[in-house]
Amino acid sequence: MSGGFDYDLVVIGAGSGGVRAARIAAGYGARVLIAEEYRIGGTCVIRGCVPKKLMVYAARFADAFEDAAGYGWTVEPPRFDWSTLIANKDREIDRLSAIYRRNLDGAGVEIVEERAVVTGPNGVRLVKSGRAVSTRYILVATGGYPDNPDAIPGLEHTITSNEVFHLPEMPKRIVIVGGGYIALEFAGVFRGLGAEVTVLYRGAKVLRGFDEDVRDVITEELGHRGIDIVCGDTIAAIEKTAEGLTVSTHGGRTLVADQVMMATGRRPNTAGLGLEEAGVVLGPRGEVRVDAHSSSDVPSIYAVGDVTDRANLTPVAIREGHAFADTVFGHHSRTVDHTLIATAVFTTPEVGVVGLTEAEALVQCHCVDVYKARFRPMLNTLSGRHERMLMKIIVDADTDRVLGVHIVGDHAGEMIQLAAIPVAMRATKADFDATVAVHPTAAEELVTMRTPSARHRREAAE
Ligand code: FAD
Ligand code: NDP
Repeated sequence: MSGGFDYDLVVIGAGSGGVRAARIAAGYGARVLIAEEYRIGGTCVIRGCVPKKLMVYAARFADAFEDAAGYGWTVEPPRFDWSTLIANKDREIDRLSAIYRRNLDGAGVEIVEERAVVTGPNGVRLVKSGRAVSTRYILVATGGYPDNPDAIPGLEHTITSNEVFHLPEMPKRIVIVGGGYIALEFAGVFRGLGAEVTVLYRGAKVLRGFDEDVRDVITEELGHRGIDIVCGDTIAAIEKTAEGLTVSTHGGRTLVADQVMMATGRRPNTAGLGLEEAGVVLGPRGEVRVDAHSSSDVPSIYAVGDVTDRANLTPVAIREGHAFADTVFGHHSRTVDHTLIATAVFTTPEVGVVGLTEAEALVQCHCVDVYKARFRPMLNTLSGRHERMLMKIIVDADTDRVLGVHIVGDHAGEMIQLAAIPVAMRATKADFDATVAVHPTAAEELVTMRTPSARHRREAAE
């Protein structure tokens, strides 16, 4: 197919979206080159979802040791070794990265491990080697990077999620700035591992955009676990002192820590890529502006994943990469539905959500019923742990359709993956109710809530 070009496709970035697109395109017979400037696997495998989840697992053993006593076990005071965790985690990441490489090789994709930049609608330059290649299509899959606020004195003393996976030692005190996914997940990790943790968040309540009950419950439960969540305040400066890192805030607070982690969002990775010079239009955050088929304004240049700033999650990047390859090389036009994407926040306790929040449903529907349960799961009875789960179902009372499910508690991520199926299939509350419970489980609550905790009715005239 190359038709005078060196390649049919050059993919820039071997992360979740790029790797999937490269493999599928090669499977359709395309001649594909993939360029990666850091490590094969991208953010998710190397410094995102996977190492993060391994650290979450590590932290959660603390609960198991504590809870065991109520079940009759005597556990010697357990000891934790940071360097063992980091070394074992690194070994697993190396293994996964090698699998990604093998899969690309197996699909016949040519891998080059250096930075690539765009030189025109059909041109790419490999920066280190200086090699210039021509290609029928370019796929930009360069992901994102941690976005620190500008002009904070002492910012150079802080870390981001890029560095947190390789700290030489476990911080005993950590200040985490931000109130989103990364801030709260790492707050849980470090608290579980025994650190003193302060979360410093500029807004009134963490997890903006999530259902209000989820935000309240996670604030309460993380607080019970000893995480100090400071809202309505922002970092002003960081200074290295004899005690450690001293953080001063605009609200007049002084916090002392061994590490300060900035978790203030991520930004699309497009700087210096040559995209605008090639005619690609970027959005206000530097994101590649694309249509439903992930095509940019230049017909030969596509973009998938975090660099497009649509829904910045691994399964979404993978779907977008796959749909691109099917459309362009498989002659099977496909788009990705970005509505109804289930997501989990791997805090402890965990958050799992799909669909509309109560507030969103109230805007979209006239009549909304809310079913809500807050209860102590069975595991927490003998252990004496007071943590209580939240299960919440949002229903369009006119159609009985389930619009949203929101869970806070152990295994919420696993539960929401399954709940997402009926919600996407437009199941009704009656369908949920007709499902016989699995007993004794926490998830059975999803099919046994009978009486709405709130019935919202909007008058027609409103
Ligand atoms: P990436 O995976 O970021 O890949 C982009 C690749 O491009 C990188 O390897 C980069 O080095 C390379 N690159 C960039 N520029 C160039 C260039 N010019 N030349 C060559 N190579 C280049 N998502 C979830 O769904 N679940 C989670 O639990 C989760 N946890 C996360 C935890 C953390 C700490 C972080 C940071 C993210 C997490 N995410 C999670 C988000 C997820 O990692 C991203 O949505 C996903 O990796 C995006 O995939 P991508 O292909 O768009 O980009
Ligand atoms: P988020 O967007 O989730 O959170 C960013 C946080 O930083 C928000 O609380 C935001 O506040 C705050 N913030 C932004 N700018 C500033 C500033 N200038 N000063 C102070 N605070 C600021 O981003 P994350 O970095 O946590 O994660 C990036 C993305 O990666 C996520 O959105 C998600 O898509 C993905 N991810 C997914 C995970 C998962 O699936 N489990 C885990 C980790 C990441 P405000 O709310 O007020 O804007």
